[in-house]
Amino acid sequence: MRLSFFFILLIISSECLASTSAKDWAKVTQPTKTTGLSQSIGTYTSGCLRGAAALPVTGNGYQVMRLSRTRFYGHPDLLSFIKKMGNAATQQHWGTLLIGDLGQPRGGPTLTGHRSHQTGLDVDIWFRLAPEATGSQLSIEDRETWAATSVLAEKSDAINRKHWSPINEHILEAAANLSEVDRIFVNASVKRQLCTDNSGQSWLRKIRPWYGHDDHFHVRLKCPADNPECRIQDAVPKGNGCDASLAWWFSAEAKADLLAPKKPATVPVLPAQCQVVLNE
Ligand SMILES: [Zn+2]
Repeated sequence: MRLSFFFILLIISSECLASTSAKDWAKVTQPTKTTGLSQSIGTYTSGCLRGAAALPVTGNGYQVMRLSRTRFYGHPDLLSFIKKMGNAATQQHWGTLLIGDLGQPRGGPTLTGHRSHQTGLDVDIWFRLAPEATGSQLSIEDRETWAATSVLAEKSDAINRKHWSPINEHILEAAANLSEVDRIFVNASVKRQLCTDNSGQSWLRKIRPWYGHDDHFHVRLKCPADNPECRIQDAVPKGNGCDASLAWWFSAEAKADLLAPKKPATVPVLPAQCQVVLNE
């Protein structure tokens, strides 16, 4: 009798120690109630966020899309970045920025869509802009149904001029020039276009070619200075990246790589602190 009680205890406690799954993180609907500083913990692909803030879904120069996903939480630094870009959009008459995913209320792995976005320092911004005069705000339904338009001509590496303009370049340049931005992921064709149009510009260094990212760009912020548990990624390579490393993306090898079946991503082991964040 005593022994079986002991075993039950053992089972319960080992359950508590078991690593968390994306499901656990997706279920949480509120950020932690933090009195101190917000903390990004771990890496972009294996981490979490204590004391997240919710981005207001409509702001000056921007609107958040796909509200049903409730991925509009981030580190306060990320919210200031988005608001700064929104203000620039209004001042420069770029149109209204359409904001995709930030992170979940406590960060962590997501069930769908991303490997990163776990520490509240990543945000997706659509290449498509809404007309500036969105005093006629997008409805909840518009935000669910509007499509993020690809800037590539169908099934090719060519830029589709119908969906790409110098405004997209101005937006990427403005974002890359902000010191809090670590890097920005875009489709290789977008990077190539930027290299052609902005030859020799040092801000191009932060613009990184990556798979997909033809209907949005992904901005990643540096670790906030006062977040000691936040782990930064290796620095971007020197130079503006408009070289052979970019040409590789258009090679037969890269195309084959793209088509090759991908191993399912292994579930990352989160820092122990994230278990605390989840249970707080
Ligand atoms: Zn992203």
